Amino acid sequence: MSQLRAVAARGLRRSGGRAAPQQQPARQSRKGASLRGGAPAPLPAPPPAQHLFSDPAEIEALRGNLLAWYDRCKRDLPWRTLAATELDADRRAYAVWVSEIMLQQTQVATVIDYYNRWMQKWPTLQALAQASLEVSSAGTGCSPCPCGSSSNSLLHLLEQEVNELWAGLGYYSRGKRLQEAARKVVSELAGRMPRTAEDLQKLLPGVGRYTAGAIASISYGQATGVVDGNVIRVLCRLRCIGADSSSPLVVDRLWDMANALVDRSRPGDFNQALMELGATVCVPKAPLCGECPVKQHCRARCRKLFGKPTLVPDVEDCGKRVGGCPLCPPATEPWDSSLGVTNFPRKAAKKQPRVVKTATCVLERRGCHGTPEYLIVQRPDSGLLAGLWEFPSLLLPQGLQEEKQQEALADHLQAWMGWPVAAGDLQLIGEVVHIFSHIHQTYVVYSLPLDGDVTLDPTSSPSRWVTEEEFHASAVSTAMKKVL
Ligand code: SF4
Repeated sequence: MSQLRAVAARGLRRSGGRAAPQQQPARQSRKGASLRGGAPAPLPAPPPAQHLFSDPAEIEALRGNLLAWYDRCKRDLPWRTLAATELDADRRAYAVWVSEIMLQQTQVATVIDYYNRWMQKWPTLQALAQASLEVSSAGTGCSPCPCGSSSNSLLHLLEQEVNELWAGLGYYSRGKRLQEAARKVVSELAGRMPRTAEDLQKLLPGVGRYTAGAIASISYGQATGVVDGNVIRVLCRLRCIGADSSSPLVVDRLWDMANALVDRSRPGDFNQALMELGATVCVPKAPLCGECPVKQHCRARCRKLFGKPTLVPDVEDCGKRVGGCPLCPPATEPWDSSLGVTNFPRKAAKKQPRVVKTATCVLERRGCHGTPEYLIVQRPDSGLLAGLWEFPSLLLPQGLQEEKQQEALADHLQAWMGWPVAAGDLQLIGEVVHIFSHIHQTYVVYSLPLDGDVTLDPTSSPSRWVTEEEFHASAVSTAMKKVL
């Protein structure tokens, strides 16, 4: 990889040297000026030295140790191979971009198959942006369906394909946004990916600061840092940062630190190495400190072993600061020696997930050859599980009794099908629980066998009859797959 990236890095490097940039104290901002027009408000004190990397020699050593470890131990992953071998910068950036979007909130092991299938189907931005034409010629479900499903636009079919390929990865809007952004690059940017982290973030929908930094450093060799969950953990431990790691103050300090640390000649490898360290060694619960390539720079480990973060006395002791240290653990939750390095990072307590109950009905009929078929309907274009297919479902009000649930579902089906449905005809099958990150969802599952066909209201959501096999190949959520 390295040659490619090194060349790119040289092109972007502004200064020839590898000396680490010093972290600057925050500059006076407009907001910092006194609102009354008097003397400017005092600048916030810079973070205490024990939470920073301020020694260029230490930074240099850390970079070297981390990169040497990465070269020896990195996992072989398809997006890394593509990023290392693809000569075309746009294709390289696209390959990294797809991987980064898929990896958001999803484990590497799960992503690999999805990634390979995606890149096989849409190997370039242009292929993804123009895929609606492929969908048309392939005729995947375009023809009007005898079951009465509404005809879809080609674009809609592409979205369906994206959803089908994405099904099981969760956070479905990611796939849709990737597709929208690809169309934008092709139609508005002449097919050329923006070449800096700043432009990537500014011009591409769905690309935030982290993704922009990852694409720019890995694909173009821009010396810019990245901060994701793994990096947060590693940096907080390296520098004993115990304040809430999701607070703006800590997040800003971590970005400063990531930008200061990133290796100037191999920024993409350095960023991946830091993330790899967090994913495989500096893991949340039982970090493998003995095997860690940067253990000699780790103040959490030092504190665990020696009872203090550094062996050399600090000029400034956090404990002596007026008002306390903004980056140390709060006084109410001090260092807990039984936790060791896992004292860091810390997060404000998570909100409890919302409890939601939904009644869902498996409507079943006999198809042409006597094969059972099931009716599925498409969810709205926005919101949870946008655009995915599901069995006809109804969100239930809190605390509704079982008998009433059944009646509510029967009314819902009746209004929707224009066919009388008695609550007593619905057979209760059981409950399926699915935990989304922020929702504890229970599906109360009923079944309703039908003798004849039903004519659905054409103004209601798109719907279609599918066999069990077709159901599992459709863009249905993991939660729905648990139902059938
Ligand atoms: Fe993480 Fe342990 Fe390495 Fe420190 S020494 S960075 S806590 S694995």
